[in-house]
Amino acid sequence: MKLMRFDVMTLFPDMVRTVLSESIIGRAQSAGIIEVECHNIRDFSTDKHRKTDDTPYGGGVGMVMTCQPIFDCFEHVRSRFANGARTRVIYMSPKGRLFNHSVAQELSEYDNLVFLCGHYEGVDQRVIDALVDEEISIGDYVVTGGEIPACIVIDAVSRLKDGVLASSECYEGESVASGILEYPQYTKPRDFRGMSVPEILLSGDHAKIDRWRLSEAVKVTKERRPELLSLHPEFEAELEPKKKKKKSAEVTKQS
Ligand code: SAH
Repeated sequence: MKLMRFDVMTLFPDMVRTVLSESIIGRAQSAGIIEVECHNIRDFSTDKHRKTDDTPYGGGVGMVMTCQPIFDCFEHVRSRFANGARTRVIYMSPKGRLFNHSVAQELSEYDNLVFLCGHYEGVDQRVIDALVDEEISIGDYVVTGGEIPACIVIDAVSRLKDGVLASSECYEGESVASGILEYPQYTKPRDFRGMSVPEILLSGDHAKIDRWRLSEAVKVTKERRPELLSLHPEFEAELEPKKKKKKSAEVTKQS
């Protein structure tokens, strides 16, 4: 299996390292399934005060990250790309394509993803025009920097890689990845402060349990994300009484 590599260009590398060194993604790094390397853009500044931002041309509030340190940082990252590696350079930005499960799947096909994290008012447009393949947004809101957004994308992409989760079944049935939202989960104890686990889950009847889960998944999706259900009518169709199903099968046969 090929190792997937993430390079993160940022002014706050410890933010990213801290988040990604814990738990499942931390273990995936130790296991050599993924590799994350953070590059401090400030280290590449040729300014005597190691400056990395400046006031915007045309006026206005805030500071804009300058070209020079980012271009030099990128040159360094690029010089280390493996020969023939499929790479993509992403700028985390509220102006980007909205991130979701299918974008995560698409990105998981690359060998090397490079993330540029903006801060303050963002980066000089010439950086984006010259170096970036794509801008990606984690949602229609603005956060203070691209570090947390990059961590979200790296986490979501990494857990799709073989070996990161215990088995691919772990995500195939999950909310959104399966097409609809997940059924409710319960664990021990059976009774907690007078609240009990649905009886059917204790029945041992797996066919019935599967059906109950499907119907709960359809119910919650209908309530919260009806548009997902219309994209995947097969889930609701599967819940139709068996008789009806037979009938439609007969109809197809006759026609
Ligand atoms: N002035 C910019 C916002 C800057 S926010 C604008 O109006 O478009 C500072 C940085 O945080 C951005 O450069 C970007 O890297 C990151 N960021 C903020 N919100 C984001 C979002 N929804 N998705 C991805 N990155 C985001």
